[in-house]
Amino acid sequence: ASKMTGRNRLSYFTRSLHDEAQNRLKLLNDMRSAVENRQFELHFQPIINLATGHICKAEALIRWNHPERGMISPAEFIPLAEESGLIVGIGDWVFRESAAQAKRWCDLFNKGLQISVNMSPVQFQSDALNITDWLTYLQTLGLDEKYLSIEITEGLLLNASDDVKDKLLLFKDAGIEVAIDDFGVGYSALSYLKRFDIDYLKIDQSFIQNLETEQNDLVLSEAIVVMAHKLGLKVIAEGVETEAQRRLLLEIGCDNGQGYFFSRPLPAAEFEDFLKKARGLSA
Ligand code: C2E
Ligand code: MG
Ligand code: MG
Ligand code: MG
Repeated sequence: ASKMTGRNRLSYFTRSLHDEAQNRLKLLNDMRSAVENRQFELHFQPIINLATGHICKAEALIRWNHPERGMISPAEFIPLAEESGLIVGIGDWVFRESAAQAKRWCDLFNKGLQISVNMSPVQFQSDALNITDWLTYLQTLGLDEKYLSIEITEGLLLNASDDVKDKLLLFKDAGIEVAIDDFGVGYSALSYLKRFDIDYLKIDQSFIQNLETEQNDLVLSEAIVVMAHKLGLKVIAEGVETEAQRRLLLEIGCDNGQGYFFSRPLPAAEFEDFLKKARGLSA
């Protein structure tokens, strides 16, 4: 790189910027037809009750099976979907697909399983978001609303408009629970916790990563748990990767855990086998 000076470096730089822009444009174009071409897929990651070890729910995580590039992670395409507004259509597919899957598992197992659906703030703030349509869809499916929850981020609630408040109430009134995702890394203004009816805080994985070595992370996690419980909320720790983390989280009274230590996000069929084994049914 030291040889790349002056004009060469500049042209290298502009060319890679150009390539980058081309890539984004292509990805965006492909994304427009990805729902109808059935290229999206949901994977499911179990959320565990730390005290009992039982699977209490699952988070639905979108994957894009791109014909040329293979599986693309949401970290790459969700921002693009948000900028372009395509997130509304994609999010609509995610919600309906999650509900349909929750219904299949309700029918298959004696005990149903709540599916947690991520919602982008852009999607939530959009006029095109029609929650009433979704609720009608749930009735058509015959799915009890308690088998769904949504995950939003605290940024959405910081300066929430009346419209956002109304939408949140539509979910809550229908019996759909609400979780705050990535808790602790945002503004953490906290006052929104008393203004909105929230059910879960999901402690961001950056607090969990070094729980064994960073005393501060443990102190903060415990403080979150104590505060949440006093407010009547439950706590889910994200990104649990080790037995030591699981044990520490149990010790500080954290309710639930999610992470590679229990399972990676799995395609629906594999998740179903995982669930059958965990519940002592044959796969
Ligand atoms: P998130 O909602 O916070 O989801 C948790 C992320 O952590 C997932 O990444 C999951 O695979 C990953 N993870 C789980 N356990 C562990 C662990 O033990 N260690 C580590 N290092 N990571 C773990 P994923 O699936 O790549 O999703 C990234 C983000 O993309 C999600 O973060 C969420 O913000 C967004 N996303 C995913 N699916 C959807 C969707 O359907 N709609 C919207 N709007 N956003 C989505
Ligand atoms: Mg989430
Ligand atoms: Mg998260
Ligand atoms: Mg509540």
